[in-house]
Amino acid sequence: MTDQITAPTFAVEDPATLEVVGHVPDLGPTHATTAVDRAAAAFPGWASTAPRRRADILRRAYELMLRDQHELATLISRENGKSLQDATNEVVYAAEFFRWYSEEAVRAGGEYGESPGGGARTIVTSRPVGVAALVTPWNFPAAMATRKIGPALAAGCTVVIKPAALTPLTMLAIAEILGEAGLPEGVVEVVTTRSSGAVVSAWMADDRVRKISFTGSTQVGSHLLHQAADRIVNASMELGGNAPVIVTEDADVAAAVEGALVAKFRNGGQACTAANRIYVHSDVVRPFLHAFGAAVEKLTVGPALDGAAIGPLVSANERQRVNDAVELAVRKGARVAYTAELPAAPGHFYPPTVLVDVSHDSSIVTEEIFGPVAPILEWNDEEDLLDHLNNSDLGLAAYVFAGDLGRAIRIAERLEVGMVGINRGTVSDPSAPFGGVKQSGLGREGSRHGLREYQETQYLSVDWPT
Ligand code: NAP
Ligand code: MG
Repeated sequence: MTDQITAPTFAVEDPATLEVVGHVPDLGPTHATTAVDRAAAAFPGWASTAPRRRADILRRAYELMLRDQHELATLISRENGKSLQDATNEVVYAAEFFRWYSEEAVRAGGEYGESPGGGARTIVTSRPVGVAALVTPWNFPAAMATRKIGPALAAGCTVVIKPAALTPLTMLAIAEILGEAGLPEGVVEVVTTRSSGAVVSAWMADDRVRKISFTGSTQVGSHLLHQAADRIVNASMELGGNAPVIVTEDADVAAAVEGALVAKFRNGGQACTAANRIYVHSDVVRPFLHAFGAAVEKLTVGPALDGAAIGPLVSANERQRVNDAVELAVRKGARVAYTAELPAAPGHFYPPTVLVDVSHDSSIVTEEIFGPVAPILEWNDEEDLLDHLNNSDLGLAAYVFAGDLGRAIRIAERLEVGMVGINRGTVSDPSAPFGGVKQSGLGREGSRHGLREYQETQYLSVDWPT
């Protein structure tokens, strides 16, 4: 956007070193509306572009993201703090949404039917919803963007997107890649800002914006749903989680430890699908805790670019919030059983921490930690455990580790969540429908379900002489 040059800017900081990584324009509601002008102007052309052409551009963007994966991963690590391994995994995962939706773009399909009473034929098709407003968080600055942009573009929508103020640089780099891949002007308009409320409110009030897709906190998601109600804007929401890990008495303990470590410490615990609380059957809690604790003590904490496994939290505020949550838990009787060493670096580091003696109703268990803290709890009775777990407003993800796969699936089917990892510590997969129930969200991202979020159904009723 050429007129961005005249806007004031703000600095993006590396949370590991506190160095400035770059500056981006601090745009306001006027620029937000200009972005909609462009996206609305580009919409008819993009919506009527042949699906194969749209697919080719997405496919090219996928290839370019892989070509640039080292630069992109380094940028993610610098502005977000996550380890280079986590950042590289994110780039590959993020790119995969462009590949997946390049393949979905040409699988439009539809229905053709005969009206029961005769005299009419029914043709059912999908239309792009229109200009979509996308709002993304800082914890996966590439993947949360491509998981929305991929299906939006495949469906024929144009988008305005607002990345989080803490991590806007990755989105700008992806926008450049989309340009290099041949995306026409105006199809993806990025608005960087420190005034997220004002920018997104301008979009929610703009008649030309027909869709809001948001990933972030339940609180902001609820606020946006209220705004969406005013104009009946189509809404998809990926909100907070509080994922339990369940380890049964017949589980392979070593595999459960490995899976729980991934579920907990990927991204330093700053993932909505992160294991928030780990419930281990009392028959196996001792060996589990011993192995889990030993692994946590070995985690290296430090700046990503020094090769550490765990980076800092994204900001001083986030670090303080995690610190306060642990202190409160300890005041309520929890005990720190294991921690990893902190680096001498100046960043917002918090040591990976294992808590035991945690009461089942303490806030560290009922609220999202969003940091490298693992409360370990014991259980004995499966019914009691399921009642306790389902007594939550959130329902994004869960993990079950069990020797008997049938039992694992029975437990999974009774959990009020959108996604369950069985004998593995990750659930994210571009080919699968990601999303939650209850206050964890509305709608799904990824897979063919994710495409539907950007489509309206239209049917044609055709007179048919009998
Ligand atoms: P957040 O405060 O809700 O922020 C998410 C996005 O919304 C950011 O771009 C933010 O911009 C913007 N925003 C903040 N206030 C807004 C407002 N009043 N109006 C419009 N937009 C606004 O969440 P966060 O603290 O960054 O991220 C952590 C939360 O996200 C956690 O609860 C986590 O579970 C959730 N999350 C969910 C998923 C999922 O897929 N379910 C994935 C990742 C994260 P600024 O930050 O620039 O103000
Ligand atoms: Mg916030």
